[in-house]
Amino acid sequence: MYLEKLELQGFKSFAPKTGLEFLLPKDNKRGITAIVGPNGSGKSNVADAIRWALGEQSMKAIRGKKGEDVIFSGSDKKTRSGFAEVSLYLNNDKKMTDNPYSEVVLTRRFYRNGDSEYLLNKNKARLSDIHLMAAKSNIGSKSYSVIGQGMIDKILTLSDDERKDFFNEATGIKQFQIKKEQSLNKLNASKKNLEQVEIVLQEIEPRLRSLRRQAKKLEEREKIEVELHSLEHAYYGNLWKDIEDRIISESAKLQKIESKWKNKRGEIQEIQKEFKKIEKEKPSSETFLALQNKYQKLLEEKSKIKEKEWKFKGKTTSISMREITEEIDEINNKQKKLIKNLRAEKINTAIRVLQKLETFTENLLKKINGEPDKKLNNIKKEVQEFEQKIIDVKKEVEILAQKESAEKNAFFEKQRKLDARQNEIFYLENDLNNLKIELARLETKREGLEEEMKIEGVKLSLNVVETQHGASLQNREETFRKIQRLKHHVDMIGGIDPETPKEYKDINKRYEFLHGESYDLKNSIDSLEVVIKELNVIIEKRFNNAFSNINKYFDKYFKILFDGGSAKIIKVTKEDKNFGIEIHATPPGKKIKNLEVLSGGEKALTAIALLCAIMANNPSPFVILDEVDASLDEANSIKFANILEELSKKTQFVVITHNRATMEKASVLYGVTMGEKGVSKLLSMKLEDRG
Ligand code: ATP
Repeated sequence: MYLEKLELQGFKSFAPKTGLEFLLPKDNKRGITAIVGPNGSGKSNVADAIRWALGEQSMKAIRGKKGEDVIFSGSDKKTRSGFAEVSLYLNNDKKMTDNPYSEVVLTRRFYRNGDSEYLLNKNKARLSDIHLMAAKSNIGSKSYSVIGQGMIDKILTLSDDERKDFFNEATGIKQFQIKKEQSLNKLNASKKNLEQVEIVLQEIEPRLRSLRRQAKKLEEREKIEVELHSLEHAYYGNLWKDIEDRIISESAKLQKIESKWKNKRGEIQEIQKEFKKIEKEKPSSETFLALQNKYQKLLEEKSKIKEKEWKFKGKTTSISMREITEEIDEINNKQKKLIKNLRAEKINTAIRVLQKLETFTENLLKKINGEPDKKLNNIKKEVQEFEQKIIDVKKEVEILAQKESAEKNAFFEKQRKLDARQNEIFYLENDLNNLKIELARLETKREGLEEEMKIEGVKLSLNVVETQHGASLQNREETFRKIQRLKHHVDMIGGIDPETPKEYKDINKRYEFLHGESYDLKNSIDSLEVVIKELNVIIEKRFNNAFSNINKYFDKYFKILFDGGSAKIIKVTKEDKNFGIEIHATPPGKKIKNLEVLSGGEKALTAIALLCAIMANNPSPFVILDEVDASLDEANSIKFANILEELSKKTQFVVITHNRATMEKASVLYGVTMGEKGVSKLLSMKLEDRG
């Protein structure tokens, strides 16, 4: 990788777009480009631009205070720029970076409003990407890639941290340190995350345990309930089917009996119809009755006449006897009267009494023999007539009675039949009633069972019933006991919030997620720790290697520049267990331990020797040296120029210098002038072929 081109626009004194092209490596030399010009023409601005483009964050390092100090601030004749932009075109033919492109263009842009951006091959990039890319390519803004004006003097007086940083970059471990830092950041973030995750996991765990227990119970309960339901299905199905079967058989019986009942009923109706018919056709009974009445009346009348006869007979007898007695008594009286008269010789009176006696006797004889017999005969005759009538009626009645008797027999036969049917109907109705009661009882039982099933949550479909019935329970009692046992078990498990499984699932999901997170985090912590350990090993190994190499080169270049003497760098462990780096330099013939006592030129030479040692150990693709040689005398300038030339085999140099010896080693010379408008201008001169 080497610097191909530098483009500046609006950067400090380089207002318009200005480009600096550098030579391609040739003949195993990466070339030296010298930038020359009067003081204040803007030479150092070029070094600043490169440092800035490489991601320098310190405004001090690029000689400014605030960000916008890098933007061309304008002059009397030229308006200020709105932004500053610097692009570094790096040729990546040898693929020194992970960047797959053959050219890497690093661009940094800064606007007056404070917006800034980095582009890597015209694509937006993060500062860290730029830093990593630079570190991997062994170029860096901070250290020796761009050695700014006056920096060479400071190398020896850097603070511990600054020097360490300088050496980190110098030993090529910067990229590993960036990686290590990133890994450490990740490690810390992971640890923090892990801590958080562990806290949440600890919070969740008890709830999860309880939920798991409950969910397990619920699962157990569901299992039992499945068995319970199946048993209940079998049990209730069996019971239900039993009742159902009985209802069906009783209904069939009922139907049979009902149809029998209907038949009997029909028969009864038939008989009743016949009865009605008989009733209608029954004048004989009336005749019979009439005859009977007639007979009765005749009898009554006969008896009346008989009575009359008897009365008459009695009367005539009783009347005659009394009358006769009375007549006789009269006669006796008359006779006595006659006798008396006769005695008294009252003949006339006696003759009249005798005459009257004669009349009485005649009347008495008449009464005794004449009139009563005639009347009695008449009555007797009448009686005889009646008797004849009665005999007639009796005959009629007898005939009728005979007919009646036949009809009656038929009637009674029917009556018996009717009675028998009614009797049968009575039994049938009794049976029907009993059956209806039984059916009602069975239906009530079934309803009760269905109600019970509803309460128990047993739903039966006919299929199930049939299947269950088909399976026919071996032992219903045993099944019932088993159902009770299972129910008791379910009761013992108790009520569980139906939301539990969902909550358990959610929390478990979260727990598993967090557990996974924790696992991943632990893994990543482990692997980060491994990476960090490995990086530490690499860093230490590389640092130590580089450090000892630098030490050798330092001594070598020191000896070249000082024509002898010795120099070394030493790692010293500090109180905080970190180490520091001490620089020891002893010019020839001197016994100096403290760098402070070296002259300004000696200090510069020592710093240059160290810088060159670093560059020799770990050649950077390019290095910008801004007036590093300013304090060297001519002899030392020549030595320095020679060293540069040697190093330029591996490193491309851009040297800002006023030094002729240095300029002479350059292949390209850029002259910088400050124009009237306060704008730097560039003039290029290829010197390669000057011979
Ligand atoms: P020397 O040889 O003395 O070191 P130099 O050539 O390195 O000088 P620089 O320090 O690069 O000169 O340039 C300084 C010049 O750049 C000054 O003239 C200064 O006014 C100018 N300058 C610096 N920043 C800006 C800026 N933001 N806008 C315009 N000009 C600027």
